[in-house]
Amino acid sequence: MFLNKEKKDVKFTDLIFKMNKNAQDDIKKFGEDAVINGTIGALTDDNGKLITFDAIESLFCSLEREKISAYAPFRGVDSFIDAAKRLCFEEYLPKKEMGATVVAGGVAGIRHAIDNYTEVEDEVITSDWYWGPYFTIAKEAKRKIRTFNFIKSDRFDLEAFKETVDDLIEKQGRAFLLINTPAHNPTGYTISSEEWEEIISFLNKKEVPITLFLDVAYIEFASFDAKKELFSVIDRLKEHIMVLVNYSISKGFAKYGFRNAVVFAFHEKKEEVEQFENAFIISNLASYATAPATGQYLISALTQNDRLLKEYKKEKNEWYNVLKRRAEMFLSIVPKEKVMPYKDGFFISLKSDVPLQFAEKLKKEHIYLVPMQKGLRIAICSISEEKLRRLAEKVR
Ligand code: PLP
Repeated sequence: MFLNKEKKDVKFTDLIFKMNKNAQDDIKKFGEDAVINGTIGALTDDNGKLITFDAIESLFCSLEREKISAYAPFRGVDSFIDAAKRLCFEEYLPKKEMGATVVAGGVAGIRHAIDNYTEVEDEVITSDWYWGPYFTIAKEAKRKIRTFNFIKSDRFDLEAFKETVDDLIEKQGRAFLLINTPAHNPTGYTISSEEWEEIISFLNKKEVPITLFLDVAYIEFASFDAKKELFSVIDRLKEHIMVLVNYSISKGFAKYGFRNAVVFAFHEKKEEVEQFENAFIISNLASYATAPATGQYLISALTQNDRLLKEYKKEKNEWYNVLKRRAEMFLSIVPKEKVMPYKDGFFISLKSDVPLQFAEKLKKEHIYLVPMQKGLRIAICSISEEKLRRLAEKVR
């Protein structure tokens, strides 16, 4: 009676949380050991306990109570922006003009970018395997998602990407590309340097405004040493391309609930990055005023303490190795043609033409995975090695 017509008949159905709830109910009935819950995208140990980093936790008591209780500035805390800049780009900080604004988590970064860099009714391009909330974020902003075939013969499907971008440019005269790499959710794919070469050369030939939004939510858990080399792409993109980088503290620093991310903007012109900051600050004010302060001061404190920063990196590396071990074991059991080409990160995906039926079938065996359009997502980040082995054997 009171809700507007857009929300009236829409039910909140977050598939991930729904499947997780099913798994929890099953655990109550059959016990922890009987159930394999591969739904939750947060890193846990083999007992299901959420991983946090001692080096970061040890800094809590040093945070000034007045600072973390006060409103943070609209643009964010300067020392946090500096810290995120250093942590995110390492030695690959682009030379272009840079703008930066703190937002309330990576989700807010995506939402603000769509709100400010596309028009109402526009379409946003992403791969056909994508993280479900992209759809809801676009819909809430009155935009649509247009997908391209992500992977062909275990590689980025460049032809499909080009065709989709060309078609949309023809229709809209501009394009917004939402690219999640490295360690893509849900497949674990990472776009390689060679693939980036081809993407850059294609995009540079276009003559319309293009926003390239790099969602690097999982970058801190990507495997290869030079993972930050990805950012060397940015200085080679021409002036018709605005690059936004969405760097969240959720996964990399295990501060999911703190709701902090920084969106960086890179362009040749100072004026463009100033406009970016201005637009994002307005979006902050109009949605949740300012991003929460605690995480901002916490991560600033981490980068101001060389010893703890080193310790944090060591801890993270240990957990990265746990994740790697889980993935290698799983992939050594399951036939290659059944899985999407995994390189890094929290998730592996199984291919299926009938994902909903497949998920239902697995449920009968007390296995809970998230159905996607073309398969099932397995959160290897939150399944013990022993259960993951059982799952792999079952899938095989
Ligand atoms: N992007 C991707 C692909 C994700 O999987 C997530 C979280 O799961 C996010 C962005 C946003 O994370 P947060 O809002 O916690 O920073």
